[in-house]
Amino acid sequence: MSIAIVAVFGLLWGSFTNVLIARVPEGANWVSDSSHCPRCGTDIRWFDNVPLLSFVVLGGRCRACRERISWRYPLVEVLVAALWVAVYLEWGLSVTTLAFAYLAVVSVALVFIDLDVKRLPFSLVLPSYAVMAVLLGIEIALGEGGNWWMLFVGAGILGGFYGGLWLVYPQGMGFGDVVAAGLLGLAAGFLGWGPLAVAAIAGPLLGGVVVVVGLISGRLKRKSAVPYGPMLIAGAWLGFLGGDAISSAYLGMLGVG
Ligand SMILES: [Zn+2]
Repeated sequence: MSIAIVAVFGLLWGSFTNVLIARVPEGANWVSDSSHCPRCGTDIRWFDNVPLLSFVVLGGRCRACRERISWRYPLVEVLVAALWVAVYLEWGLSVTTLAFAYLAVVSVALVFIDLDVKRLPFSLVLPSYAVMAVLLGIEIALGEGGNWWMLFVGAGILGGFYGGLWLVYPQGMGFGDVVAAGLLGLAAGFLGWGPLAVAAIAGPLLGGVVVVVGLISGRLKRKSAVPYGPMLIAGAWLGFLGGDAISSAYLGMLGVG
């Protein structure tokens, strides 16, 4: 029952995530503007804006002009809801869950903004440092989670790694990737060394796989610019949710775990 409630709230916040994706890059006022159809401009009424359900009921089309609505909207909602359920299953009712539920919204927004406009806006990433540091700091003060300095170690390792890459090969990634990596590293550091290691390694691995598959299938040209944010963020979440299990399995395989 509680999982269903978390999923419903995840869908609602996924709906808000769609608003962020649409409006953060253009700097529009995402608090007070109302949603409208991009083709006919008709305001979307609240009953046509129920996450997932409205998309299904309307057959994926605008009620007024029958313009197709992108499948991305329900996808974003389902992604946020799925992450929320995973976070809840991992950390229960806790400040840690609150922090990572927040980070899930920011992460999904950043993935799609990066795909759209090829950048990770500071206006979303920088305030998130403060939010995550405060929430995770509260959790550490409550005696949950590890040492406070692991937040800095995590941010330093991931931010430093990508900062180094950016310095030697600035064409390869944007400075936005470096700043976002620091934020994800801060969160991974809170969870410990296993999640931090997996978060650091999984991003480049995923990136390599995507580029190789893209080149072989011909969907990527040698000089195509591939936004790295989605891989960075997916790798980090692999670390958050599976880092302990993956790192101990790996160490066990080596015979040292
Ligand atoms: Zn319309």
